[in-house]
Amino acid sequence: MTALYKKVAFIGLGLIAGSMARAIRRDHLADQLVGTARSASTRETARDIGFCDEIVETPAQAVKDADLVVLAVPVGAMGDVAREIAPHLEPGAVVTDVGSVKRAVIDAVAPHLPANVHFIPGHPLAGTEHTGPNAGFAELFENRFLLLVPLPGTDEHELARLKLLWEKMGSQVEFMDADHHDLVLAVTSHAPHLIAYTMVGVADDLRRVTDSEVIKYSAAGFRDFTRIAASDPTMWRDVFMNNKDATLEILGRFTEELFALQRAIRTGDGDLLHDYFTRTRAIRRGIIEAGQDTDAPDFGRGLKR
Ligand code: NAP
Repeated sequence: MTALYKKVAFIGLGLIAGSMARAIRRDHLADQLVGTARSASTRETARDIGFCDEIVETPAQAVKDADLVVLAVPVGAMGDVAREIAPHLEPGAVVTDVGSVKRAVIDAVAPHLPANVHFIPGHPLAGTEHTGPNAGFAELFENRFLLLVPLPGTDEHELARLKLLWEKMGSQVEFMDADHHDLVLAVTSHAPHLIAYTMVGVADDLRRVTDSEVIKYSAAGFRDFTRIAASDPTMWRDVFMNNKDATLEILGRFTEELFALQRAIRTGDGDLLHDYFTRTRAIRRGIIEAGQDTDAPDFGRGLKR
């Protein structure tokens, strides 16, 4: 297939950029890939792996002559990166991002970009708890949703080209408004991560009392929480700092439900618990039927890693 872009520049070389680069290269979706990361050690690792044609020292160098620039850094770093690259962007270039929060990223990035570049925010609903350039793999986006958040006046041709790139990487692309995105993700990803962090934190406190029995006898429920709670601390700090309203709204509802279940346990209302768990079980079945997870107890990820 003919390449969709001449030169793709990755700012940040972690799980997401590393996976994109591997997928783009596998299917020759771009002629040239260049990347940069903040630390010399990450740049060195990426050079050794070789998933880009060139690893350069600075974002300004990376975006030179690039017709697609991918911001793949933590959400809280997007604004600074945009400011740094802005004077060096090619006229007509497309700038996209893969941040897990959309409204805050748009507010942080858009004001820095010159009028002659196209900013098309995006978010792949794909990831693992692993980070860094070694963590990426070309199949990460297969059969996963990719949400694009077109801004008013977005160039239709460039939107279609970026959509096609993600489709070629295996994603199912949908368009979404930024605020709606942030609310949906607060329910499906952000609040669940906070709950997992909390549960593992509680168990850790308990471990001090029970002398490591929590780890020794960890059952499937707790183990699944620990996988989520092993996610990157910087990325997740930035998610909560930048999706405050939606996350707090969902956590408020969560707390109410938790109190209701707590009361059912105290009052012995088994019917309420049974009905509740029957409803939630159907959601799990729906996710598996939609092909968004497997029935395997390790969430299917063990097969890939
Ligand atoms: P990652 O593996 O931790 O990689 C992050 C990259 O950003 C690294 O190359 C890092 O460089 C660089 N970086 C960190 N702080 C920086 C800063 N202040 N300035 C410049 N560069 C910086 O992260 P990732 O999982 O690929 O996540 C990247 C983006 O994708 C995030 O916005 C995240 O919200 C989003 N996302 C993640 C997932 C997921 O499950 N992981 C899923 C969907 C979307 P050094 O290594 O040199 O520090």
